Amino acid sequence: MTHPAQPKASHFINGEYVEDTAGTPIPVIYAATGEQIATVYAATPAIVEQALSTAKEAQKAWAKMTGTERGRILRRAADIMRERNHELSVLETYDTGKPLQETLVADATSGADALEYFGGLAASLTGEHIPMGEDWVYTVREALGLCVGIGAWNYPTQIACWKGAPALACGNSMVFKPSETTPLCALKVAEILIEAGAPAGIYNVVQGMGEVGSALVTDPRVDKVSLTGSVPTGKKVYAAAAEGMKHVTMELGGKSPLIIFDDADIDNAVGGAINGNFYSSGQVCSNGTRVFVQKGIKEKFLARLAERTGNAIIGDPMDEATSFGPMVSENQMNIVLGYIEKGKEEGARLICGGKRADKDGFFVEPTVFADVTDDMTIAREEIFGPVMSVLDFDTEEEVIARANDTEFGLSAGVFTNDFSRAHRVIGQLEAGSCFINSYNDAPVEAPFGGVKASGVGRENSKEAIKHFSQVKSVYVRMGDVEAAF
Ligand code: NDP
Repeated sequence: MTHPAQPKASHFINGEYVEDTAGTPIPVIYAATGEQIATVYAATPAIVEQALSTAKEAQKAWAKMTGTERGRILRRAADIMRERNHELSVLETYDTGKPLQETLVADATSGADALEYFGGLAASLTGEHIPMGEDWVYTVREALGLCVGIGAWNYPTQIACWKGAPALACGNSMVFKPSETTPLCALKVAEILIEAGAPAGIYNVVQGMGEVGSALVTDPRVDKVSLTGSVPTGKKVYAAAAEGMKHVTMELGGKSPLIIFDDADIDNAVGGAINGNFYSSGQVCSNGTRVFVQKGIKEKFLARLAERTGNAIIGDPMDEATSFGPMVSENQMNIVLGYIEKGKEEGARLICGGKRADKDGFFVEPTVFADVTDDMTIAREEIFGPVMSVLDFDTEEEVIARANDTEFGLSAGVFTNDFSRAHRVIGQLEAGSCFINSYNDAPVEAPFGGVKASGVGRENSKEAIKHFSQVKSVYVRMGDVEAAF
């Protein structure tokens, strides 16, 4: 019998599901059991061509609609997503293995927020009037054209919407390629947009591995590429886009610092460290995986952290009581277990976890290492799993320098009850998305993105509009034209 997660077809182009079984089969594995639940096929060159030519053509009429009309469609799509939240969350859980407890509140709902927010902004995207004496200049905020979105596997619904919603609000069309590991959810976003009244062809989904992504990025018809992925992939995609002078948004990896001063509320700081390391089993780009704890509270912090981590309910992600799910794939589980072994070999002190959970599926226990030093592999490389490194520090000046000593710059957090210190420290941290006495909140109203190797551009908020539109300026002369001859 066909599994309920099996989509009608692999791709969604020009308003309908499209199949081409000549492409490489991509098995969809449910991470909690290891079973294959669906199969999709990577896009063949013919499918890529169909998606790009459709999106290019559909964009022209879409951009001519008023912002109010475009916005209404996006807001209707948001309503449909909320009505179907349960069904979409179950699918997200099948796609990623994340517990339903999380997917019910953080995935389709976050996608719906983006559709609603950018739908609301669509009608207000205007230019300005610049008086020049008797003459004037006016500006027009125009769509870029055809945008390509490429997603990572940790938030497949959210990423499809975080890229699609601002792109469509500005009058662009999109071809979106999900990660091959989580191909299911973006198809639903495309289906819902059509149900909400979107014209066929403005939001298309094609499946495939890196080479399909690469074919999309290098196509001369594409005007913008928005990637969520790792730094190495980001460098390749950025370089390929530069060849065609295309606009880019790069949402890449991190190794973010979370700094806990000894005057902080310990339980709040522990809660922040848990949210910043174990949500989605640690598969979150902005995670604060280098937890710097001031020496005076170190042992108290570690004791409370170990106690609360012991309360994680690891198990069937479809059970709403479960609070901690598996890694997305066997491959990712093995990468994470490899880092845990490195941590042990390099002399970090294991506080809790440290191995594969005794279950079917790709579960790794929530793991905390203490006495981690700046040069250890687990403190330098992005693990993308539930492995927290706790490092000690003495002074504010020292911790700022150590926190910034990384190629990454996505996020940073500070826990302290001294607000002058909180702002002073945040002001010096090299990171794009920061938190004071909190961690990992990502509301659509706030800009999200990194500095340094963690990326360029911003998603969400009004900032995202700048990255999905361009400004045309028009000088209007009222009098005669003077010329030298
Ligand atoms: P990857 O970088 O491996 O892949 C990202 C996407 O790019 C996938 O869809 C992948 O396809 C595709 N891709 C790979 N090579 C190319 C290429 N040459 N040209 C075009 N596309 C290509 O990342 P993961 O999927 O492993 O995701 C984890 C990473 O994503 C982590 O580093 C994490 O930090 C980052 N991330 C960043 C976020 C942010 O907002 N800053 C949010 C979430 C994750 P495929 O995998 O199918 O081969």
